[in-house]
Amino acid sequence: MKITEIVKKKTPTISFEFFPPRNEKAASELYGAITDLEKYNPDFVSVTYGAGGTTRDLTHDLVLKILTETSIPVVPHLTCVCHKEPEIQEIISQYAAAGVDNILALRGDLPRGKEDYDRNQDDFFYAEDLVRFLKKFNDEGNHDRGGFDIGVAGFPEGHPETPNRMKEMDYFKAKIDAGADYICTQLFFENRDLYDFRERCELAGINVPIIAGVMPLQSKKGMVRMAELAAGARYPAKLLKQLNTVEGDDISELGRDYAIAQCQDLIANGIHGLHLYTLNKSKQTIQLLEGIS
Ligand SMILES: Cc1cc2nc3c(=O)[nH]c(=O)nc-3n(C[C@H](O)[C@H](O)[C@H](O)COP(=O)(O)OP(=O)(O)OC[C@H]3O[C@@H](n4cnc5c(N)ncnc54)[C@H](O)[C@@H]3O)c2cc1C
Repeated sequence: MKITEIVKKKTPTISFEFFPPRNEKAASELYGAITDLEKYNPDFVSVTYGAGGTTRDLTHDLVLKILTETSIPVVPHLTCVCHKEPEIQEIISQYAAAGVDNILALRGDLPRGKEDYDRNQDDFFYAEDLVRFLKKFNDEGNHDRGGFDIGVAGFPEGHPETPNRMKEMDYFKAKIDAGADYICTQLFFENRDLYDFRERCELAGINVPIIAGVMPLQSKKGMVRMAELAAGARYPAKLLKQLNTVEGDDISELGRDYAIAQCQDLIANGIHGLHLYTLNKSKQTIQLLEGIS
């Protein structure tokens, strides 16, 4: 089922993000988490795509497993970096044939160890190019169920590579106009950033649903890693002050309560959807869901 159809029926949507497991132990933990979380009737789940196509097969396999073994609509992520057009064509054709109805179209970043890679070799430079290609695929009737819904990434605090925020909004609008159906945001910890982003989208004439990415913090070490991975995301002072009261690395209780308050405020402010970054674990996500309701 397409994300825009789901959003029309119900807001806010509740969805989860998973990443493909790299070994059997991680796979069995993830499948356990999916089974636990399925009981909460998520509206959809998404599966990340490793930088530079490093999880191409793993992403595909997990997407198909969720599609065939659960009743949850699934959104594969797909990135441009290190890919040629025929590879992308093959991947999306396989998804279309398997019954996948949505794709999150991203540029991606260069994987570690490939920093010197010349991106001019790639057939799609920006996410906008991939969106346009997916739209063409849809328009040519290559997808039996009326085409993929195409999601794109949004950055409430801005994307670090484009410090000029006016230019950034022009690029973002061009990505939407190329054929995007909805936006899923980068994680953020200050809701005002999301509300401001939403208003700036409205002013730019962007009217597609915005699904907010929320991640409950689990550990101080994880926070440091996340600051690198989710470049541009900042931890507001009110959160840092609370963190100062916790000794040791484990901040899962505080992270859960902060995320509950964040989600409740987002719901009160009419967000279209909450996309929860699960890190492939169910316990904290379930506590968060129960806290929200
Ligand atoms: C919800 C979400 C899910 C993600 N999932 C994954 C994943 O599964 N795998 C993965 O590898 N990464 C993932 N990422 C990370 C993402 O790939 C990176 O953040 C990447 O740096 C930006 O991707 P994008 O799709 O926003 O790129 P783009 O929209 O292409 O933008 C990238 C940068 O280029 C700028 N830009 C765009 N168009 C132009 C132009 N015409 N001229 C000049 N500059 C331009 C933009 O302003 C921005 O700074 C995800 C991010 C989010 C928010």
